[in-house]
Amino acid sequence: MTFLWIFTVMLTFVFMEFVAWFSHKYIMHGFLWSLHKDHHIKNHDSWFERNDFFFIFYALVSSVFVILWGEANFWFGLPIALGIFLYGLTYFMVHDIFIHQRFKIFRKANGNMRKVFAVRTRFTIKTYTKKMESVLGCCGFL
Ligand SMILES: [Zn+2]
Ligand SMILES: [Zn+2]
Repeated sequence: MTFLWIFTVMLTFVFMEFVAWFSHKYIMHGFLWSLHKDHHIKNHDSWFERNDFFFIFYALVSSVFVILWGEANFWFGLPIALGIFLYGLTYFMVHDIFIHQRFKIFRKANGNMRKVFAVRTRFTIKTYTKKMESVLGCCGFL
C-alpha cells in the first residue's frame, strides 16, 4: 500500500510533465492563447501574469482529488493531488523563479553564480594554457 501510494505520487508527477507539454503546445498556444500571451510578451507592469491563471487551474484540479479522497473514499485521490501539487511547485521554482527570475533575491544569487563560473572558467583556461606551454615548450614546439 505504501509503495503503491508513493508510486501514484511519482506517476502523477511524470504524467503532469506530459500534461504540461501537451497543454502548452496545444491549449496555451491554441484556444487559450489570450491567457498565455503575456507570459511571452509582457505588456504590463504587474508582477502577476494572466498566465498565472493556469496555476490556479491546476490547484483546482488538485483540490478536486483531495475532495474525492475525503468524501468519496477514493484512496488514491490524495497521492494524485500531492503529485500535481509537487509538480506545480517544482515547475514554478525551475521555470518561473530560475528561468524567468521573478524574484529579485534569486536574480542576485544567479548573478553571483555567473561571476563565480566566469572566474573559474578563466582560471581553468589560464592554468591549462600554462601547462600546455610548458609541455610544448620543453619538447621544442614553441
Ligand atoms: Zn508558451
Ligand atoms: Zn516561460
